[in-house]
Amino acid sequence: MENKRRRNIIPKLRRRTVASPDKQKRKISIVIPAFNEEDSLRPLALELRKVFNEMKDYDFEVIIVDDGSTDNSLKVLNEIKKEDQRFKFISFQKNYGKSAALSIGFKYATGDLIVTMDADLQDDPHEIPNLVKKIDEGFDLISGWKKIRFDPFIKKYSSRIFNFVTSFLTGIKIHDFNCGLKIYRKEVAQSIKVYGEMHRYLPVLAHWNGFRVGEIVVKHHPRRYGKTKFGASRFMKGFLDLITILFTTRYLRRPLHFFGTLGVILFLTGFSIDLYLAYEWAFQGKYLTNRPMLWLGILLILLGVQTIAIGLIGEMIAHHAQRVEDYHIKVINL
Ligand code: UDP
Ligand code: MG
Repeated sequence: MENKRRRNIIPKLRRRTVASPDKQKRKISIVIPAFNEEDSLRPLALELRKVFNEMKDYDFEVIIVDDGSTDNSLKVLNEIKKEDQRFKFISFQKNYGKSAALSIGFKYATGDLIVTMDADLQDDPHEIPNLVKKIDEGFDLISGWKKIRFDPFIKKYSSRIFNFVTSFLTGIKIHDFNCGLKIYRKEVAQSIKVYGEMHRYLPVLAHWNGFRVGEIVVKHHPRRYGKTKFGASRFMKGFLDLITILFTTRYLRRPLHFFGTLGVILFLTGFSIDLYLAYEWAFQGKYLTNRPMLWLGILLILLGVQTIAIGLIGEMIAHHAQRVEDYHIKVINL
Protein backbone atom coordinates (compact mmCIF):
# COMPACT_ATOMS: atom_id res chain seq x y z
CA MET A 1 0.00 0.00 0.00
CA GLU A 2 2.69 2.41 1.13
CA ASN A 3 4.85 1.47 -1.83
CA LYS A 4 2.08 1.92 -4.33
CA ARG A 5 1.39 5.46 -3.19
CA ARG A 6 4.99 6.42 -3.47
CA ARG A 7 5.20 5.06 -6.96
CA ASN A 8 2.30 7.30 -7.91
CA ILE A 9 3.82 10.40 -6.48
CA ILE A 10 7.27 10.15 -7.96
CA PRO A 11 6.39 10.34 -11.67
CA LYS A 12 4.30 13.43 -11.01
CA LEU A 13 7.14 15.26 -9.34
CA ARG A 14 9.52 14.28 -12.07
CA ARG A 15 7.19 15.45 -14.78
CA ARG A 16 6.80 18.83 -13.16
CA THR A 17 10.53 19.53 -13.00
CA VAL A 18 11.08 18.52 -16.59
CA ALA A 19 8.12 20.48 -17.85
CA SER A 20 9.24 23.79 -16.29
CA PRO A 21 10.98 25.48 -19.23
CA ASP A 22 12.20 28.60 -17.40
CA LYS A 23 14.35 26.57 -15.10
CA GLN A 24 16.69 25.59 -17.92
CA LYS A 25 16.97 29.03 -19.48
CA ARG A 26 20.36 30.51 -18.88
CA LYS A 27 20.74 34.22 -18.44
CA ILE A 28 23.26 36.36 -20.28
CA SER A 29 24.23 39.79 -18.99
CA ILE A 30 25.69 42.24 -21.47
CA VAL A 31 27.89 44.88 -19.90
CA ILE A 32 28.57 47.93 -22.06
CA PRO A 33 30.80 50.83 -20.97
CA ALA A 34 29.79 54.06 -22.70
CA PHE A 35 31.42 57.45 -22.55
CA ASN A 36 29.79 60.13 -24.71
CA GLU A 37 28.25 57.71 -27.19
CA GLU A 38 24.77 59.29 -27.46
CA ASP A 39 24.37 58.58 -31.19
CA SER A 40 25.42 54.96 -30.97
CA LEU A 41 23.20 53.83 -28.09
CA ARG A 42 19.90 53.55 -29.99
CA PRO A 43 21.23 51.63 -33.00
CA LEU A 44 23.13 49.41 -30.54
CA ALA A 45 19.99 48.61 -28.53
CA LEU A 46 18.12 47.87 -31.75
CA GLU A 47 20.79 45.48 -32.97
CA LEU A 48 20.96 43.76 -29.57
CA ARG A 49 17.22 43.16 -29.54
CA LYS A 50 17.47 41.45 -32.90
CA VAL A 51 20.09 39.10 -31.44
CA PHE A 52 17.91 38.42 -28.38
CA ASN A 53 15.04 37.47 -30.65
CA GLU A 54 17.26 34.98 -32.41
CA MET A 55 18.52 33.43 -29.15
CA LYS A 56 15.23 32.26 -27.69
CA ASP A 57 16.81 29.80 -25.28
CA TYR A 58 18.35 32.54 -23.18
CA ASP A 59 17.22 35.36 -20.93
CA PHE A 60 18.99 38.66 -21.35
CA GLU A 61 19.79 41.79 -19.44
CA VAL A 62 21.87 44.68 -20.70
CA ILE A 63 23.77 46.85 -18.24
CA ILE A 64 25.00 50.00 -19.90
CA VAL A 65 27.47 51.86 -17.70
CA ASP A 66 27.46 55.53 -18.55
CA ASP A 67 30.97 56.54 -17.57
CA GLY A 68 30.23 60.18 -16.67
CA SER A 69 29.10 61.22 -20.16
CA THR A 70 28.63 64.93 -20.73
CA ASP A 71 26.38 64.55 -23.78
CA ASN A 72 22.77 63.36 -23.97
CA SER A 73 23.57 59.71 -23.19
CA LEU A 74 21.64 59.65 -19.93
CA LYS A 75 18.44 60.89 -21.58
CA VAL A 76 18.75 58.33 -24.35
CA LEU A 77 19.37 55.57 -21.79
CA ASN A 78 16.22 56.54 -19.90
CA GLU A 79 14.20 56.29 -23.10
CA ILE A 80 15.69 52.93 -24.04
CA LYS A 81 14.94 51.55 -20.58
CA LYS A 82 11.31 52.74 -20.82
CA GLU A 83 10.84 50.81 -24.06
CA ASP A 84 12.50 47.61 -22.88
CA GLN A 85 13.03 46.78 -19.22
CA ARG A 86 15.85 44.41 -20.06
CA PHE A 87 18.01 47.46 -20.74
CA LYS A 88 19.32 48.73 -17.41
CA PHE A 89 21.89 51.39 -16.79
CA ILE A 90 24.25 52.77 -14.18
CA SER A 91 25.53 56.31 -14.54
CA PHE A 92 28.76 57.54 -12.96
CA GLN A 93 28.90 61.07 -11.59
CA LYS A 94 32.20 61.61 -13.42
CA ASN A 95 34.43 59.82 -15.91
CA TYR A 96 36.28 57.02 -14.12
CA GLY A 97 37.51 55.08 -17.15
CA LYS A 98 36.60 51.89 -18.97
CA SER A 99 37.98 49.55 -16.28
CA ALA A 100 35.87 51.16 -13.57
CA ALA A 101 32.80 50.99 -15.80
CA LEU A 102 33.34 47.29 -16.46
CA SER A 103 33.94 46.47 -12.83
CA ILE A 104 30.69 48.12 -11.65
CA GLY A 105 28.87 46.35 -14.49
CA PHE A 106 30.29 43.00 -13.35
CA LYS A 107 29.18 43.74 -9.82
CA TYR A 108 25.53 44.20 -10.74
CA ALA A 109 25.30 41.60 -13.51
CA THR A 110 23.05 38.69 -12.58
CA GLY A 111 23.56 36.44 -15.61
CA ASP A 112 25.32 33.08 -15.69
CA LEU A 113 27.40 34.38 -18.57
CA ILE A 114 28.61 37.95 -18.95
CA VAL A 115 29.37 39.47 -22.34
CA THR A 116 31.25 42.77 -22.58
CA MET A 117 31.24 44.96 -25.66
CA ASP A 118 31.95 48.55 -26.64
CA ALA A 119 29.10 50.99 -27.11
CA ASP A 120 30.45 52.58 -30.30
CA LEU A 121 29.07 49.96 -32.75
CA GLN A 122 32.58 48.72 -33.55
CA ASP A 123 31.84 45.37 -31.91
CA ASP A 124 29.18 43.25 -33.58
CA PRO A 125 26.37 41.95 -31.32
CA HIS A 126 25.75 39.13 -33.82
CA GLU A 127 28.93 37.51 -32.50
CA ILE A 128 27.25 36.78 -29.16
CA PRO A 129 25.92 33.33 -30.22
CA ASN A 130 29.43 32.38 -31.40
CA LEU A 131 30.95 33.48 -28.11
CA VAL A 132 28.41 31.42 -26.17
CA LYS A 133 29.06 28.39 -28.34
CA LYS A 134 32.80 28.62 -27.82
CA ILE A 135 32.68 29.14 -24.04
CA ASP A 136 30.46 26.07 -23.79
CA GLU A 137 33.30 24.00 -25.22
CA GLY A 138 34.74 24.18 -21.70
CA PHE A 139 36.29 27.61 -21.37
CA ASP A 140 35.90 30.24 -18.64
CA LEU A 141 36.64 33.27 -20.79
CA ILE A 142 36.60 33.80 -24.54
CA SER A 143 38.25 36.86 -25.99
CA GLY A 144 37.41 38.29 -29.41
CA TRP A 145 40.10 38.73 -32.02
CA LYS A 146 39.56 41.58 -34.46
CA LYS A 147 41.56 39.84 -37.17
CA ILE A 148 40.45 42.36 -39.77
CA ARG A 149 40.10 45.64 -37.97
CA PHE A 150 38.91 49.07 -39.00
CA ASP A 151 41.07 51.49 -37.07
CA PRO A 152 43.61 54.13 -38.09
CA PHE A 153 46.92 52.79 -39.47
CA ILE A 154 49.07 53.82 -36.47
CA LYS A 155 46.68 52.27 -33.98
CA LYS A 156 46.53 49.01 -35.89
CA TYR A 157 50.27 48.54 -35.94
CA SER A 158 51.12 49.83 -32.49
CA SER A 159 48.42 47.56 -31.19
CA ARG A 160 50.01 44.61 -32.93
CA ILE A 161 53.31 45.30 -31.12
CA PHE A 162 51.48 45.73 -27.83
CA ASN A 163 49.73 42.39 -28.27
CA PHE A 164 52.92 40.61 -29.23
CA VAL A 165 54.84 41.90 -26.19
CA THR A 166 51.98 41.14 -23.82
CA SER A 167 51.58 37.65 -25.19
CA PHE A 168 55.35 37.07 -24.92
CA LEU A 169 55.64 38.38 -21.34
CA THR A 170 52.55 36.65 -20.02
CA GLY A 171 52.77 33.40 -21.94
CA ILE A 172 49.13 33.58 -23.13
CA LYS A 173 48.64 32.68 -26.75
CA ILE A 174 45.97 35.15 -27.81
CA HIS A 175 46.21 37.85 -30.48
CA ASP A 176 44.02 40.70 -29.29
CA PHE A 177 44.05 41.46 -25.57
CA ASN A 178 42.23 44.75 -25.88
CA CYS A 179 39.19 43.55 -27.82
CA GLY A 180 36.05 44.95 -26.19
CA LEU A 181 34.04 41.87 -27.12
CA LYS A 182 34.49 39.07 -24.60
CA ILE A 183 32.45 36.51 -22.71
CA TYR A 184 33.02 35.38 -19.14
CA ARG A 185 31.51 32.86 -16.81
CA LYS A 186 30.00 34.81 -13.93
CA GLU A 187 32.55 33.41 -11.48
CA VAL A 188 35.44 34.78 -13.55
CA ALA A 189 34.06 38.29 -13.98
CA GLN A 190 33.15 38.57 -10.34
CA SER A 191 36.38 37.27 -8.86
CA ILE A 192 38.78 39.50 -10.77
CA LYS A 193 39.55 43.00 -9.59
CA VAL A 194 39.68 45.55 -12.43
CA TYR A 195 40.97 49.06 -11.86
CA GLY A 196 43.33 51.61 -13.46
CA GLU A 197 43.50 50.56 -17.09
CA MET A 198 43.56 46.87 -16.33
CA HIS A 199 40.68 46.05 -18.66
CA ARG A 200 43.30 45.28 -21.30
CA TYR A 201 44.64 42.48 -19.15
CA LEU A 202 41.47 40.71 -18.09
CA PRO A 203 42.48 37.56 -20.01
CA VAL A 204 45.88 37.69 -18.27
CA LEU A 205 44.35 38.03 -14.82
CA ALA A 206 41.91 35.23 -15.55
CA HIS A 207 44.66 32.95 -16.88
CA TRP A 208 46.87 33.51 -13.86
CA ASN A 209 43.99 32.81 -11.54
CA GLY A 210 43.62 29.38 -13.07
CA PHE A 211 40.76 29.99 -15.51
CA ARG A 212 40.73 28.62 -19.08
CA VAL A 213 41.04 31.38 -21.65
CA GLY A 214 40.21 30.96 -25.35
CA GLU A 215 39.78 33.09 -28.44
CA ILE A 216 37.57 33.42 -31.53
CA VAL A 217 37.82 35.69 -34.55
CA VAL A 218 35.12 38.39 -34.48
CA LYS A 219 33.82 40.95 -36.95
CA HIS A 220 34.85 44.55 -36.43
CA HIS A 221 33.39 47.76 -37.85
CA PRO A 222 34.68 51.30 -38.30
CA ARG A 223 33.52 53.84 -35.74
CA ARG A 224 30.28 55.39 -37.00
CA TYR A 225 29.70 58.25 -34.55
CA GLY A 226 31.89 60.24 -32.16
CA LYS A 227 35.59 59.64 -31.76
CA THR A 228 37.94 57.31 -29.90
CA LYS A 229 38.46 57.98 -26.20
CA PHE A 230 42.00 56.69 -25.99
CA GLY A 231 44.92 58.73 -27.32
CA ALA A 232 48.59 57.85 -27.67
CA SER A 233 48.97 57.80 -23.88
CA ARG A 234 47.23 54.41 -23.93
CA PHE A 235 50.49 52.59 -24.62
CA MET A 236 52.53 54.11 -21.82
CA LYS A 237 49.72 53.58 -19.33
CA GLY A 238 49.09 50.14 -20.74
CA PHE A 239 52.66 49.00 -20.20
CA LEU A 240 52.85 50.46 -16.70
CA ASP A 241 49.71 48.51 -15.90
CA LEU A 242 51.32 45.38 -17.30
CA ILE A 243 54.19 45.80 -14.83
CA THR A 244 51.69 46.26 -12.00
CA ILE A 245 49.92 43.12 -13.07
CA LEU A 246 53.13 41.13 -13.27
CA PHE A 247 53.85 42.17 -9.70
CA THR A 248 50.43 41.88 -8.15
CA THR A 249 49.68 38.48 -9.61
CA ARG A 250 52.94 36.72 -10.30
CA TYR A 251 55.20 38.07 -7.61
CA LEU A 252 52.77 39.23 -4.93
CA ARG A 253 53.44 36.23 -2.75
CA ARG A 254 57.11 35.87 -3.60
CA PRO A 255 58.81 39.21 -4.26
CA LEU A 256 62.23 37.73 -3.52
CA HIS A 257 61.93 35.44 -6.54
CA PHE A 258 61.98 38.49 -8.78
CA PHE A 259 64.29 40.87 -6.91
CA GLY A 260 66.50 38.07 -5.64
CA THR A 261 67.15 36.68 -9.13
CA LEU A 262 67.86 40.12 -10.55
CA GLY A 263 70.05 41.03 -7.54
CA VAL A 264 72.10 37.85 -7.73
CA ILE A 265 72.72 38.34 -11.47
CA LEU A 266 73.86 41.95 -10.91
CA PHE A 267 76.04 40.99 -7.96
CA LEU A 268 77.72 38.05 -9.70
CA THR A 269 78.45 40.08 -12.85
CA GLY A 270 80.07 42.87 -10.79
CA PHE A 271 81.92 40.40 -8.61
CA SER A 272 83.37 38.52 -11.61
CA ILE A 273 84.60 41.75 -13.22
CA ASP A 274 86.33 42.88 -10.05
CA LEU A 275 87.72 39.42 -9.32
CA TYR A 276 89.33 39.35 -12.77
CA LEU A 277 90.83 42.82 -12.27
CA ALA A 278 92.10 41.83 -8.81
CA TYR A 279 93.72 38.72 -10.33
CA GLU A 280 95.55 40.79 -12.95
CA TRP A 281 96.63 43.26 -10.26
CA ALA A 282 97.96 40.51 -7.98
CA PHE A 283 99.68 38.30 -10.56
CA GLN A 284 100.47 40.56 -13.51
CA GLY A 285 101.08 43.82 -11.64
CA LYS A 286 98.46 45.80 -13.62
CA TYR A 287 97.53 48.87 -11.56
CA LEU A 288 93.86 49.37 -10.73
CA THR A 289 94.06 53.18 -10.94
CA ASN A 290 93.46 53.46 -14.70
CA ARG A 291 90.91 50.66 -15.09
CA PRO A 292 87.36 52.10 -15.46
CA MET A 293 85.82 48.59 -15.42
CA LEU A 294 86.61 48.51 -11.71
CA TRP A 295 83.88 51.11 -11.15
CA LEU A 296 81.38 49.18 -13.17
CA GLY A 297 82.12 46.13 -11.03
CA ILE A 298 81.65 48.09 -7.80
CA LEU A 299 78.44 49.63 -9.11
CA LEU A 300 76.98 46.24 -10.04
CA ILE A 301 77.92 44.69 -6.68
CA LEU A 302 76.22 47.53 -4.79
CA LEU A 303 73.15 47.44 -7.01
CA GLY A 304 72.95 43.68 -6.60
CA VAL A 305 73.06 43.85 -2.80
CA GLN A 306 70.44 46.60 -2.77
CA THR A 307 68.12 44.74 -5.11
CA ILE A 308 68.28 41.61 -2.96
CA ALA A 309 67.56 43.79 0.09
CA ILE A 310 64.48 45.25 -1.64
CA GLY A 311 63.31 41.69 -2.29
CA LEU A 312 63.73 40.81 1.38
CA ILE A 313 61.74 43.87 2.48
CA GLY A 314 59.06 42.93 -0.07
CA GLU A 315 59.05 39.43 1.39
CA MET A 316 58.42 40.85 4.88
CA ILE A 317 55.53 42.99 3.61
CA ALA A 318 54.05 40.07 1.68
CA HIS A 319 54.31 37.92 4.79
CA HIS A 320 52.18 40.36 6.79
CA ALA A 321 49.74 41.06 3.97
CA GLN A 322 48.99 37.41 3.24
CA ARG A 323 45.23 37.08 3.41
CA VAL A 324 43.07 34.07 2.78
CA GLU A 325 40.67 36.09 0.56
CA ASP A 326 43.43 36.50 -1.99
CA TYR A 327 43.03 32.91 -3.15
CA HIS A 328 40.34 32.17 -5.70
CA ILE A 329 38.49 29.16 -4.31
CA LYS A 330 36.54 26.99 -6.72
CA VAL A 331 34.69 24.74 -4.28
CA ILE A 332 34.55 24.55 -0.50
CA ASN A 333 33.32 21.28 0.91
CA LEU A 334 33.94 21.28 4.65
N1 UDP B 1 34.89 54.19 -22.65
C1 UDP B 1 34.45 54.40 -21.36
N2 UDP B 1 35.15 55.25 -20.55
C2 UDP B 1 36.28 55.90 -20.98
C3 UDP B 1 36.72 55.63 -22.30
C4 UDP B 1 36.01 54.78 -23.10
O1 UDP B 1 33.45 53.85 -20.93
O2 UDP B 1 36.86 56.65 -20.21
C5 UDP B 1 34.14 53.29 -23.53
C6 UDP B 1 33.73 53.89 -24.87
O3 UDP B 1 32.53 54.64 -24.77
C7 UDP B 1 33.58 52.69 -25.74
C8 UDP B 1 34.64 51.73 -25.19
O4 UDP B 1 34.95 52.20 -23.87
O5 UDP B 1 32.31 52.09 -25.61
C9 UDP B 1 35.89 51.69 -26.05
O6 UDP B 1 36.37 53.00 -26.25
P1 UDP B 1 36.88 53.53 -27.67
O7 UDP B 1 35.96 53.10 -28.75
O8 UDP B 1 37.13 54.99 -27.55
O9 UDP B 1 38.26 52.76 -27.80
P2 UDP B 1 38.92 52.19 -29.12
O10 UDP B 1 37.87 51.42 -29.87
O11 UDP B 1 39.39 53.39 -29.88
O12 UDP B 1 40.04 51.32 -28.61
MG1 MG C 1 36.00 51.88 -30.36
